[in-house]
Amino acid sequence: MEQYGIYINGKWVDSTSRETFTTRNPATGEPLAEFPKGTPEDVDRAVKAARKALPSWKATPAPLRAEILYNVARMIEKRKEELATLLTKEMGKIIAEARGDVQEGIDIAKLMASEGRRLKGETVKSELPNKFCMSIRMPLGVVGLITPWNFPFAIPCWKTMPALVAGNTIVFKPATDTPLLLTRLIEIFEDAGLPPGVFNYVTGSGGVVGEAIVSHPGVDGVSFTGSVEVGRRVYTQGAKRLIRVELELGGKNPQIVMDDANIDLAIEGALFGAFGTAGQRCTATSRLIIHEKVYDEMLEKLVERTERLKLGNPLDPSVDVGPVINQGQMEKILGYIDIGKREGAKLVTGGERATGGELDRGWFVEPTIFEAEHGMRITKEEIFGPVLAVMKAKNFDEAIHIANDVEYGLSSSIYTKNVNTAFKAIELLEAGITYVNAPTIGAEISLPFGGVKNTGNGWREAGSAAIDGYTEIKSVYIDYSDKLQKAQIDVPYEKYTKHVEQG
Ligand code: NAD
Repeated sequence: MEQYGIYINGKWVDSTSRETFTTRNPATGEPLAEFPKGTPEDVDRAVKAARKALPSWKATPAPLRAEILYNVARMIEKRKEELATLLTKEMGKIIAEARGDVQEGIDIAKLMASEGRRLKGETVKSELPNKFCMSIRMPLGVVGLITPWNFPFAIPCWKTMPALVAGNTIVFKPATDTPLLLTRLIEIFEDAGLPPGVFNYVTGSGGVVGEAIVSHPGVDGVSFTGSVEVGRRVYTQGAKRLIRVELELGGKNPQIVMDDANIDLAIEGALFGAFGTAGQRCTATSRLIIHEKVYDEMLEKLVERTERLKLGNPLDPSVDVGPVINQGQMEKILGYIDIGKREGAKLVTGGERATGGELDRGWFVEPTIFEAEHGMRITKEEIFGPVLAVMKAKNFDEAIHIANDVEYGLSSSIYTKNVNTAFKAIELLEAGITYVNAPTIGAEISLPFGGVKNTGNGWREAGSAAIDGYTEIKSVYIDYSDKLQKAQIDVPYEKYTKHVEQG
């Protein structure tokens, strides 16, 4: 079994704890690799290395920092199949989705490399003569990056690429289930020419390593993706130090299907949205809101298609649904299925741990569909597994009400052929992302990604907006008049403005 250290100042070193944890393939239970249980002292070493590397990385022209990202993109491309296979073994998503996860890393590396030639500020006109006004972007400094397990490659790339191109140095803590892909990303960065100390990596529990990063006085900003519960804690800890904390949290994403929709297309969307990645996407479709006129027809066909989904080893290309990440998550999902039954929701299909043959070795849950009433816990709380709550709506207004009446606001979707209905939905759905005639999953990296309400705190990843999360803006005034000019005071406004008499 492979053994890893933590990565500080360009070197793999031991943790001060000398203790380790083992990651396992969720489809087979096989042990994969051993990682150190990091400590606050390890975090301190990582932060010091990042601080030391900061001045020269910050002083490197952004287009040259970007060249390293271009190298990284090309190297990931070369190793795409190897990385995807490893990702499937570590996290359990089916191989086609794992390739997508890696591709997202390539895409964001290229997009952020292109930002290296922009990192835009603005110039505006001064109210005074012989004076120039502009704003420029500066890195935050040392940033702490904390990630979940469901996109073990894409999400780390979403964070590292903009952070690095903007001139920050990094202390990274991956999820304990999925630290392996990060070791490959670090290898690639090293080969691509990233100087030592710019990217540091400490594995270990959230409560120890995560907390130590957020509360370390040498960390200038944190970007966190994970659950609302932990996000709230990270935000509160960061607030004590008044640092930037970017949060990307959970979802309870609705797909609305109107009576004029292409029902077969809506079924394809629901299947992919609800059961893709075994429902473990922050944007997964966990609620399907169907217009009453097409409800019976759609539900019947959807159940029939769901029952045909093949569960199994996610490396097998004929498999549709892989395992969930670990035993704890499986039990949480099965617990929610029990809650649904006890609340009186009607279980239409699935509802059990999937067993038999090779499935017995892993953590598999049957794709599950409930007919539910809006307000039940399974319609409001994030389950993060292959469980879909289907609800009936009388009309568009009721569908929108149901869609919005949750604490989350990440992704949303509507299937309709009516352009007016589509645009009304775009306006009314309380979410950071709305799809029309497409499922709630499948964001492209060129547009901002993030949510409203309890899904986040206003920042966005991906798109050019990603740069905002990792930069401070400095306003610059250059006076070339050779005299003291006083803004607002020396300006002869009276000469130029007309006063309108009252009355
Ligand atoms: P989690 O909140 O349990 O853990 C996320 C990360 O935080 C892990 O690395 C964990 O070790 C760390 N952590 C735990 N306690 C901590 C603490 N006290 N201080 C600092 N760090 C701590 O989430 P998870 O189970 O890994 O991931 C699933 C969640 O992530 C879901 O809620 C999902 O919706 C969300 N998610 C959101 C997005 C998004 O972009 N909005 C994307 C993917 C996943």
